[in-house]
Amino acid sequence: MDIEREILETDIAIVGAGPAGLALAYKLAQLIEADGSVDMPEILLMEKGSHCGAHALSGAVMDPRGLAELIPDYIEKGAPLSAPVSTDSMYYLRKSGEFKFPFLPPSLSNHGNYVISLNRLTSWLGEQVEAKGIDIFAGLAGYNLVIEDGVVSGIQTVDMGLDKEGNPKSNFEPGSIVKAKVTVLCEGVRGSLTRQALEQIPELTAGRLPQTFLTGVKEVWEIPEGRIKAGEVIHTIGWPQPNHEYGGGWVYGMSNTMVSVGYAVGLDSPDPTNDPHMKFQRYKTHPVLKRILEGGTMLHYGAKTIPVGGYYCMPKLFHAGLLLCGDSAGFLDPSRLKGVHLAIKSGIMAAETLFDCLKDGDFSPGKLAGYEQRFENSWSKRELYKSRNFHAAFKNGLKSGMFHVAIQTLTGGRGLFDRREHKPDHEYMLTIEAFTKRFGQKPHKESIKFDNSYTFDKLTDVYKSGTQHEEEQPPHLVIADYDICNNRCTEEYGNPCQHFCPAHVYEMVEDSERDVKLKLQLTPSNCVHCKTCDIADPYQIIRWVTPQGGEGPNYENL
Ligand code: SF4
Repeated sequence: MDIEREILETDIAIVGAGPAGLALAYKLAQLIEADGSVDMPEILLMEKGSHCGAHALSGAVMDPRGLAELIPDYIEKGAPLSAPVSTDSMYYLRKSGEFKFPFLPPSLSNHGNYVISLNRLTSWLGEQVEAKGIDIFAGLAGYNLVIEDGVVSGIQTVDMGLDKEGNPKSNFEPGSIVKAKVTVLCEGVRGSLTRQALEQIPELTAGRLPQTFLTGVKEVWEIPEGRIKAGEVIHTIGWPQPNHEYGGGWVYGMSNTMVSVGYAVGLDSPDPTNDPHMKFQRYKTHPVLKRILEGGTMLHYGAKTIPVGGYYCMPKLFHAGLLLCGDSAGFLDPSRLKGVHLAIKSGIMAAETLFDCLKDGDFSPGKLAGYEQRFENSWSKRELYKSRNFHAAFKNGLKSGMFHVAIQTLTGGRGLFDRREHKPDHEYMLTIEAFTKRFGQKPHKESIKFDNSYTFDKLTDVYKSGTQHEEEQPPHLVIADYDICNNRCTEEYGNPCQHFCPAHVYEMVEDSERDVKLKLQLTPSNCVHCKTCDIADPYQIIRWVTPQGGEGPNYENL
């Protein structure tokens, strides 16, 4: 279908109003105000969620360093910090017992940090940006990155009002082409435009290791008083994660009666039945968790991938017409599982670079390179470099990982090896045959019966994410070849998508046209935009693209 698209011009297009994009906008306005000699540029700050913060989700314990650098009086300005961290502990869990570590690794010490709800913090940050006179266009999603003669020249926004087959309905509104001097991608983890940039501009990933991810699944609970204190932070390793997989859990006291509880699972698992949602529900049945949660009420649910590859997996941060910030560029310290402070810092450094560009009227790649130079000289680089080998330490399981991390702590992050090569996560998934050969039994998902009052099935949880999508639109999970799903994948892997998706979007149902055969059925309206399928699919035939703007989860307190 040939579509005539409106062309809009702007100076700076920022895709994603999360911590990185908002920090960028705020800092740029601050620099321009303080300098007085540069006019405010035209900024298009877009957010695919229905409002600022609707798609923001994290554990989260925030190191305030980034926020303090951006807004030194953040406490006086009313930043929504649930509680300062009061106590820190770490447990090794066995199926029915636990061992409390007498001390914590330095990276997990949270003294001076805050338990927060990222989606509340993001909404507040959005208000600070709007108070600087910058509009946030919520409900506006980027669909394509526009690259002309090797230069990123802007984005095409998503078409609204198409039916399931992609035909225009009566309310059809074609997406526009937004031309910008610089496009800054702050889309969060595995952004769809960032993926296009990394695929189409080989220079961005040349010499870098592929990013590696966890899927974090989280609930917020209201609990009886006396179970946990506001600011109490508990991390766990061990059960229910098998030794050959990477992951762990957490409980954070948001107040004396509200907790964030969650579990994160590596997507480089060899197990085709790897199911982060099921692992999380089983995790809650451990006595350590039951002592805190039992008798409480689950209020909210969400899921999101986490980029944990660290420094060696970060792409080049700039290209002609392009900057990459926040989770889109892998700004996350894997040893601390913290990225909010680094995302904010990346936004600050991008703003300083763009301010220089505005002053000199020069947006050339040579000028944009200032962003990467700032990063190289910043505390964010020093922090990320220190944890550069952290994830690789766990390649041979939890016990050897703990040994390697101890050596890394003593050697400034180097450990016994530096820059260990690895493959993209999906290449670690084994076929049923290969798994059986390696582990002596077929892949078998440990499961529990959900009671939907303490442990929840995926659909009940999804309801608590507030996710909503218009049903009458093209599916935003684009499957390149259904034949692979319905035949080859069923035999080789047993259709892992039905396991790894934490929102029950993928289901194998009986195919009435074939005897004893199953076919893939999608329910895209359940999707919580976690991006697990885009990463973990072993054939890489699933592509997550943006649905109409303003859809997806409506996170609260997450
Ligand atoms: Fe996550 Fe993909 Fe499932 Fe959506 S469909 S919830 S992105 S795994």
